[in-house]
Amino acid sequence: MDAYPTVQRRTGRVAEVSGTAGDFAVRLEGCPVERARRLVLAGGQVDVPEDVPGLAQRWGSSVFHCPFCHGFETTGKTLAVLGNGVGAMLAAYVRDRFSDDVVLCTNGPAEMSAPVADLMAQRGIAVRDSPIVALEGELGALTVRFVDGGELARDAMYHRAPTRPGNGLAVQLGATILPDGFVQVDEFGRTTVPGVSAVGDAAQLPALPDGLTLVGPGAADGVRAAVWLDQELFRSELPFTPGG
Ligand SMILES: Cc1cc2nc3c(=O)[nH]c(=O)nc-3n(C[C@H](O)[C@H](O)[C@H](O)COP(=O)(O)OP(=O)(O)OC[C@H]3O[C@@H](n4cnc5c(N)ncnc54)[C@H](O)[C@@H]3O)c2cc1C
Repeated sequence: MDAYPTVQRRTGRVAEVSGTAGDFAVRLEGCPVERARRLVLAGGQVDVPEDVPGLAQRWGSSVFHCPFCHGFETTGKTLAVLGNGVGAMLAAYVRDRFSDDVVLCTNGPAEMSAPVADLMAQRGIAVRDSPIVALEGELGALTVRFVDGGELARDAMYHRAPTRPGNGLAVQLGATILPDGFVQVDEFGRTTVPGVSAVGDAAQLPALPDGLTLVGPGAADGVRAAVWLDQELFRSELPFTPGG
């Protein structure tokens, strides 16, 4: 980015945004207020993993949130899936795609309907419901320790942690937020507030069942938003309204 003199970077946290298309004010902590004709919000999201001792330190190195990101690398490995309720479907998915040795750890009494319990049995997915007291070791040599004194050796763990979309600035501007916290955008990346786009993990098309939180789509969102915003600015300054 430094190769482009037209780009300036500010590293502070944005505390507040206000204004309307053509004149937004962006207040960064410890910096003067910046003004902008258009805004692109890219607040990402924060993962909130279960409070299991040792989990946070292993997040992303031996405990993975997403089989689309880490499935290939965990193929044929012994896997644990941590999660009650929705964890069962993640366990069924990684069992189907990546490994025939999957144990579901519900970290407390399993919340599971009879058809889901049957599915676990059919797929050979063992369910351990004892609360977990510690996660130890590293990728290829993880140990899950349970309160009942049992332990489980695994190569890696999956855990679909709840997430908190970084939507605070969109909320300040009055943009529509979808029920799961994502900032609603259209096919152009535009939020419901004129002049404000949103991209990446924090943004979602309402027709999708879940956010597509991956690097590729996030980068594509950014390009898309930049192109349409630039076109909109160019057209808004013409002395007539162009067709098409
Ligand atoms: C453990 C892990 C592994 C992953 N592996 C893969 C993978 O293999 N392949 C893949 O495609 N994806 C992977 N992902 C997903 C990928 O990291 C995200 O999809 C991607 O980083 C999203 O980019 P983003 O720019 O939308 O958000 P982020 O990368 O989260 O960036 C958002 C930034 O905005 C900042 N921010 C938020 N609020 C403010 C504010 N008010 N002021 C200033 N800054 C603010 C945040 O601090 C953050 O730096 C992984 C994610 C995790 C957690």
